[in-house]
Amino acid sequence: MPGTVTIIGGGVIGLCCAYYLQKEGFEVTIIDQGDITRGTSFGNAGYVSPSHFIPLASPHIIAKALVWMLDSSSPFYIQPRFDRDLIRWCMAFWRSAARRNMERNIPPLHAILQLSRELMNTLRDDLGNHFRMAENGCFMLYKTEASGKKERQLAGEAKALGIRAKICDAGEISALEPNLEVDVLGGVLYPIDCHLHPGDFMETLKTRLDAKGVRFRLNTRVIGFRMEQNRVLSVITDQGEFEGEQWVLAAGSWLPEIARMIGIRLLLQPGKGYSITYPEIGANLCHPAILVERRVAVTPMGRDLRLGGTMELTGINDRVLPNRVDAIYEAAKAYFPGLEIDPPEMTRVWKGLRPLSPDGLPYIGRHPAFANVAFAGGHSMLGLSLAAATGKLVKEIIAGEKSSIDLSSFNINRFRVK
Ligand SMILES: Cc1cc2nc3c(=O)[nH]c(=O)nc-3n(C[C@H](O)[C@H](O)[C@H](O)COP(=O)(O)OP(=O)(O)OC[C@H]3O[C@@H](n4cnc5c(N)ncnc54)[C@H](O)[C@@H]3O)c2cc1C
Repeated sequence: MPGTVTIIGGGVIGLCCAYYLQKEGFEVTIIDQGDITRGTSFGNAGYVSPSHFIPLASPHIIAKALVWMLDSSSPFYIQPRFDRDLIRWCMAFWRSAARRNMERNIPPLHAILQLSRELMNTLRDDLGNHFRMAENGCFMLYKTEASGKKERQLAGEAKALGIRAKICDAGEISALEPNLEVDVLGGVLYPIDCHLHPGDFMETLKTRLDAKGVRFRLNTRVIGFRMEQNRVLSVITDQGEFEGEQWVLAAGSWLPEIARMIGIRLLLQPGKGYSITYPEIGANLCHPAILVERRVAVTPMGRDLRLGGTMELTGINDRVLPNRVDAIYEAAKAYFPGLEIDPPEMTRVWKGLRPLSPDGLPYIGRHPAFANVAFAGGHSMLGLSLAAATGKLVKEIIAGEKSSIDLSSFNINRFRVK
């Protein structure tokens, strides 16, 4: 037996780490403060998107964000407040968004996205497709020529990386979406992308891990660690103290709080988003689509339809801002006027917290201060897309194997926070 590993956090990242570690023969325990039924990894848009190779921190997003900040129904919002970590994060985000830095971050993001996409097919074959995984690509749909120009340019960059992109006019899109009227100027289809039902994926993973003997300590909140020199010896929780050999910190938006318990400062902000799911609608889309001007994701999940969007930097809370939820619904109706969906009831809106690193790249690897701790977090808008690769890479770190891809860009220490 290679030994024991305790994973803090049972989101999609924690479960995928457990999957690969258990397969390797490690004895795995997952600790989560909740019951793993409804967090950020459950209600997201369900995209596994190698086409999202441009990191969130990019010159384009900075220009857009400044305009969006002035509009209460826009897809982006930062609550003005004096918070030293938020200010540091914003400054690091600003620097990462410089063209030179963004261009440096594209190859590592592309590499991990590609690895993860390949692994998703293996996962589906091993687990059985109980999570509605469909490999029919993803559309970027636009209404204006300005957006079209930008999207066609991105399609060119994608092709340069070897990602297939099909530029379509309105007629071609309508032919591919025969069930609904589509009111757009054009779009780009990325056939490599796939999508699935993230909640079903989580349940399938958890069922498999349970069956393989992975131990779940649920409703168990981590409040500290016992350490000696460069090793973590045990975790202190509100349900008692538990010893361990190797540790994986995969606590999503709570990662800075957990890291601070072992004396490590990490730049990460929660980016709240919403989704609304319409079960068993009549005429549904054939392809998932991002409505470019409104930054809204529209995903058919079997007979259901999910709308998702907004990015709110308001700290860790579960407040819902109705204006921004309404804007998601309005966007879907503007692009697909025939969709038979009602305005969302606020009580049925799902919310989740994207763990946003300042450059849009994840934190994966060991911190030099600890010999038996690995980090797996900061996956921002791409946690589902990157989960399989992260699980495999973390397994390789813990097992002391050669890494499948270069991890240097995902270094935990890259922002050097004191
Ligand atoms: C609206 C929206 C749409 C999205 N769409 C997509 C998409 O289409 N594709 C994609 O790739 N990504 C998408 N994302 C992003 C994706 O959902 C996240 O990146 C991903 O779920 C993060 O997973 P995680 O495991 O790191 O964190 P989480 O799922 O948040 O899991 C972290 C876990 O840690 C636990 N935890 C925290 N603190 C403690 C503690 N002290 N003690 C014990 N346990 C603790 C929490 O309870 C939680 O279960 C979307 C996000 C949102 C909000």
